[in-house]
Amino acid sequence: MADMVVVRKDGLYCVPGGFYIDPWRPVERAVITHAHGDHARAGHGHYLSAASGVNVLKSRLGQNIRIDGIEYGARIEHNGVAISLHPAGHVLGSSQVRLEHKGEVWVASGDYKVEPDRTCAPFEPVRCDTFITESTFGLPIYRWQPEQSIFDDINAWWRGNAAAGRCSVVFAYSFGKAQRILSGLDAAIGPIVCHGAVEPLNRVYRAAGVNLPPTVLVTDIDKQALRSAIVIAPPSVSGSPWMKRFGDYSDSFASGWMLLRGARRRRGVDRGFVLSDHADWPGLMTAIRATEAPRVIVTHGSIAVMVRWLRQLGLDASGFDTEYGDDEAEAAAAADGADGAEGANTPLEKTDA
Ligand SMILES: [Zn+2]
Ligand SMILES: [Zn+2]
Repeated sequence: MADMVVVRKDGLYCVPGGFYIDPWRPVERAVITHAHGDHARAGHGHYLSAASGVNVLKSRLGQNIRIDGIEYGARIEHNGVAISLHPAGHVLGSSQVRLEHKGEVWVASGDYKVEPDRTCAPFEPVRCDTFITESTFGLPIYRWQPEQSIFDDINAWWRGNAAAGRCSVVFAYSFGKAQRILSGLDAAIGPIVCHGAVEPLNRVYRAAGVNLPPTVLVTDIDKQALRSAIVIAPPSVSGSPWMKRFGDYSDSFASGWMLLRGARRRRGVDRGFVLSDHADWPGLMTAIRATEAPRVIVTHGSIAVMVRWLRQLGLDASGFDTEYGDDEAEAAAAADGADGAEGANTPLEKTDA
């Protein structure tokens, strides 16, 4: 049987369906797995996403995009292909795309993680014949601690800074990572300040029913109160005049890449918190096994290593060359203007509006 999904110059293309999944160039019809910049681009004629992702996409791409949202698990038909979306556990509204045509099932994962978190629907394994998986952290060295232990570390660091009268600044991607950190903060420690790029996404999350602690903009708080505050800001403001108001602050960076000492050093921050919205190595293996797919196609990340590993497990494995970036490396790269994408083989998305 011919492949249901192939790579074209514009993106992943569903051949019988005549539509794209997360295309990197403008197309007529796009199914979007989630609203990170490298997966959700502007300029498509029509968008389809999970219902819970519609307002995130509008917030990032504009209120006027033509978009339909469908509930997780609901089926629609397009050119004889049954399309359904299933939670990917990555960020609010993220989904895996299930495609069924003439009895054959393909699933494109988008970005995913298997550890549940409080800001989005948990990853759901979907059985299929062919699974297209991401591999951002597809090396055996990547193993995450449970998120609560990372939140405990962040709160302890914040508490210590607040006791010393020093503001705490966390650099994190403004969509997804920022809200996940917020969900784990102990608001009793002090005020929580969000950068203007983060706050609009907080509103979308709260409107979707995600419980986040109260946050304020920096213009709403006086200098004295800032000394016990935690500030969540995109990495792009690191070293900018915006930071001056915080005086003698302590800074940190939250990303899976913080597992690497070199990445921490290059960030030049006081602390690195290893918190990722992508599956670690055991998570990738668990997810792949749960699909029961005999064929696996690996995209953005450690393609060669994953393909070799999966073949040793007896799977029919190969890679797709895509133009997806790496949301966590994007945030890291923006922090120091350098290429922070260890293991990434694709161009970085520079804007994090
Ligand atoms: Zn992503
Ligand atoms: Zn991605």
